[in-house]
Amino acid sequence: MKFEQYNISPLIKQSLDELGFRKPTDIQYKAIPSILKGDDVLAIAQTGTGKTAAFAIPVLHVLLRRDRFNVRKQVKCLVMVPTRELALQIAGVFKEIGRHTPLQILGLVGGVAEEPQIKKLEKGIDILVATPGRMFDLCSRGIIDLSRVDILILDEADHMLDLGFIKDIRDIQSYLPARHQTLFFSATIDEKIKALAYSLVRDAIRIQI
Ligand code: AMP
Repeated sequence: MKFEQYNISPLIKQSLDELGFRKPTDIQYKAIPSILKGDDVLAIAQTGTGKTAAFAIPVLHVLLRRDRFNVRKQVKCLVMVPTRELALQIAGVFKEIGRHTPLQILGLVGGVAEEPQIKKLEKGIDILVATPGRMFDLCSRGIIDLSRVDILILDEADHMLDLGFIKDIRDIQSYLPARHQTLFFSATIDEKIKALAYSLVRDAIRIQI
């Protein structure tokens, strides 16, 4: 199976081709159809497996399809990650794969000036990739509106637990609509991760590679 056979937008296929991505990796092959269908996904996959594109490709496609109907720019996908480096890296992957689309992507991290971030948010962002600190701050000040997010992605969830972000993962739910698709990615799985995952995703498609 090659990407050209996938039912995804030509605008996305074009950037995959330019990036030299011809065939899906194992995790992409398993995750992309479920994500396109709108299923919750619980995936155990390490860095280096192509896990970022496994969620970036279908999310860009789904949002692009909706963008045709001129939905006002608002955050529709939130990716929560444990570290700044990861946030910027993931935002970079979304930007590369989405570079021929009109979708707006922002990596939102602390430790940098907030004014430019606020300006970008005001112009309209479709996909927000964030660490919890700055994001909750801007949410509580009403600068970020997450009420239209219908895809939540937790990446490196095990690392988030290690860094003590469990409360943030729970708190974010109160900012989102009750019904949303959750994609839960972790490099490792143990009882604690399982308990967290199953408290967030109902009837998830489970993928282990
Ligand atoms: P990740 O696991 O998301 O950190 O990705 C690991 C590396 O694999 C990155 O450098 C990607 O650019 C690359 N990659 C992801 N998907 C593919 C693919 N389908 N074909 C070739 N390279 C890929």
